[in-house]
Amino acid sequence: MTNELKRYYSDLRDKNYRLWQKRIAECEAKDGRFRALMDEPSRVFLQVGAGRLSSAAAISRIAQNTAERKNLLISLGLPSDYLDPIYTCPKCQDRGEIGEPSKLCSCALKKQQELLLSASCINDRETFGNFNEAIYPSSEQKKQGLGMKRFCERYVAALPHSEKPNLLIVGQSGLGKSYFGNAIGYAAIEAGVRTFKSTAYQCIQDILSGIDAREDAVAPYVSAELLILDDLGTEAMVPNVTIETIFRILNERAAAMLPTVLISNLDREGLFERYGERVASRIIDGALTSIVLLRGENLRTRIR
Ligand SMILES: [Zn+2]
Repeated sequence: MTNELKRYYSDLRDKNYRLWQKRIAECEAKDGRFRALMDEPSRVFLQVGAGRLSSAAAISRIAQNTAERKNLLISLGLPSDYLDPIYTCPKCQDRGEIGEPSKLCSCALKKQQELLLSASCINDRETFGNFNEAIYPSSEQKKQGLGMKRFCERYVAALPHSEKPNLLIVGQSGLGKSYFGNAIGYAAIEAGVRTFKSTAYQCIQDILSGIDAREDAVAPYVSAELLILDDLGTEAMVPNVTIETIFRILNERAAAMLPTVLISNLDREGLFERYGERVASRIIDGALTSIVLLRGENLRTRIR
């Protein structure tokens, strides 16, 4: 379990404990008998611990205590479980883990996805599930879109150890490249892969802000289990920064065998022209990268 997730469950247990204590105080204010009733279980346990009470007698006293408490609650018009310990997830009692050996509870898997999603810049709209083939203007383009969807789904399914860890999606604007990038990221997060999506423009802005603040802002780009870098080629070309940053990201990710999805309007010649041999040959490195070219009519400017 990640530290972030541990902190979430620790906060959740605190919150529910405080709520429980508030309910106890509320009931004690309503009827003085609650105090003794709520103290009874710990008195019983102490007596068992000290050897002054048999377990059979203890079980009977606890059962009697529970019944009295519930009856008193009902007589006050409150639910009979009003003073039971409060759990957001009764299954794991807000521990996030169940079983032996322990595994993540379904609530923790869901929470983990939420945390990953909020840190990833990935939206929950552009997904494989929401993919709509009706947007394609021709049967040929529709076939291409469906093929692309299948290809991307297979890519995600093979993460994090795809045979070719990188994917380069190229093509003109408005062909749905960013949609597929987001859908890959969303599906990866569903599979528990720590994903980070950004644009090349934002990446260089982050690096420049980091230089001003004397911080190394490249970390999320280098360390994400899956990086999706959109709009490669639209970033500012800052001498000694842009090329070096992109090279460093690709180089460190390749060394760590971390998968990267790059999305660009630039074709092979455009990539070489803009980034030079050293970087462009990495971007299109056939041993590490599957390259997909999307063709067709712009889906955004098309008259519907
Ligand atoms: Zn749970």
